[in-house]
Amino acid sequence: MANDTTTTSPADDVLNPVVSDLRAAHPSLGITKLFAQFKVDHPEWAVSEKRFRKALQVTGGSIAPQNGTVGNANDPSMPLEAGLIADTGIDPSIDVATIAPMVKVKMFPGGKGKGLVAKEKLQQGEVLWQEEPWIVTADPELYPYLTSKQMCSQCFTLFPLPNPPLSVSCSYCDTAHFCNRLCYAKARSSTAAHSDLLCPGQNPDAVNLLSFIHQKRARSVDAIARIIARWRGEREWGEKSKADEIEQRVWKGMARVSQQKKEMERKEWEFVGEMRIEEWKLVHMLICKVLNPQPTDENYKKFQKLLIAKHPRKAKPTPLTEEEVERWFSLESFLQLYGLVGLNQEDSGGLYALHAHLNHSCEPNIQVRNLPKSFVPPSPSDLPCDLPPPTQPGNRGTNKLTILARRTIHPGDELLISYVNFAKPREERRNDLREGYGFWCSCPRCVREKKEEEKAAQAQAKAAA
Ligand SMILES: [Zn+2]
Ligand SMILES: [Zn+2]
Ligand SMILES: [Zn+2]
Repeated sequence: MANDTTTTSPADDVLNPVVSDLRAAHPSLGITKLFAQFKVDHPEWAVSEKRFRKALQVTGGSIAPQNGTVGNANDPSMPLEAGLIADTGIDPSIDVATIAPMVKVKMFPGGKGKGLVAKEKLQQGEVLWQEEPWIVTADPELYPYLTSKQMCSQCFTLFPLPNPPLSVSCSYCDTAHFCNRLCYAKARSSTAAHSDLLCPGQNPDAVNLLSFIHQKRARSVDAIARIIARWRGEREWGEKSKADEIEQRVWKGMARVSQQKKEMERKEWEFVGEMRIEEWKLVHMLICKVLNPQPTDENYKKFQKLLIAKHPRKAKPTPLTEEEVERWFSLESFLQLYGLVGLNQEDSGGLYALHAHLNHSCEPNIQVRNLPKSFVPPSPSDLPCDLPPPTQPGNRGTNKLTILARRTIHPGDELLISYVNFAKPREERRNDLREGYGFWCSCPRCVREKKEEEKAAQAQAKAAA
């Protein structure tokens, strides 16, 4: 693409959402720098700075908001409230038409970013799509099952008895066990549940990182290490296109925010901030020692050998470029990945490419579930139908997601999930969302309930007077 010199002039309805999204992704950049970024992102477009400025004005993004204040374009009745901006864009590597034919991706104007909308009418109980994770992490509560060979490290299925027939252990270490060879293969490549780079039998320094994760029950750190290992594994042993896909997904597709920026908003930051920064530096160093050791590190030579082990004709691995080091191994990148995991990790511990596109509402129209392997989607003649009952303990779901309609959904409706427990009262929900996801909710239910609360307060004041 970068070498393609043919340029075209995009129509306003193509240009405006892109400009609006760019502003949302870079809330503090001045217009000149924003335009420079735009030129980098879209070398194929002939757009003058004058036209760019006009597009910014039209979409309401000409003035850089301060401290990430986002105007609420959808609902003028809600005041403008400061929100953390999560950098986000469309993940070009997902084949939505194949995974979820009833759904399409939409970019919303006004800095809201991407979302999913229904292409056709959907009925209650209907399965919109099912999705396997591209990164998996085990629940710290389940570590005892892993170490006693009672659970698969890849799909988290509990074995009926320890170490059953057909199950396999990692050939290099005794920290991972799998239902069968297929789960083992997936864990080594497509989900990094047990990447060769994180297998203590192959990369000895991984022991320190793993014991840190287990001791501190640090599921986020586990996920960060797996994301980087996934990319590095593809870079060293896979196809270049695969490594690029991961890079695009992480740094362009998924919503993210610096963990530091997020935690600095909390009241207690004043007291714990310094300690947190020290902690992050330590974890960051642990990860670098495992996935990008330096010549002065003890693990360096072993790591270099591991990198070329799968390339018998290669004498030396190809060194990382400066950009690659900056993008994957800088402290700032670590903090960004930390924030990304916080925003995108599902209860099952997985990261899901398409699911990550779903926006929040306190009255969601779809539900996301980890159902048992025995679940069969209802046939069209059975619709509408009840949603499947809650999964019983002992019949735990797998880490495959099933996305179901909670009620009738019409074509063009946005598909919305709830990021938090929506049975909670308004203030609690909004605080949970602000803490965990960096925004103040102004969904129709929040607006409605606010008005009701105000009415009730007025009535009370009247009665008292
Ligand atoms: Zn399995
Ligand atoms: Zn292993
Ligand atoms: Zn809400």
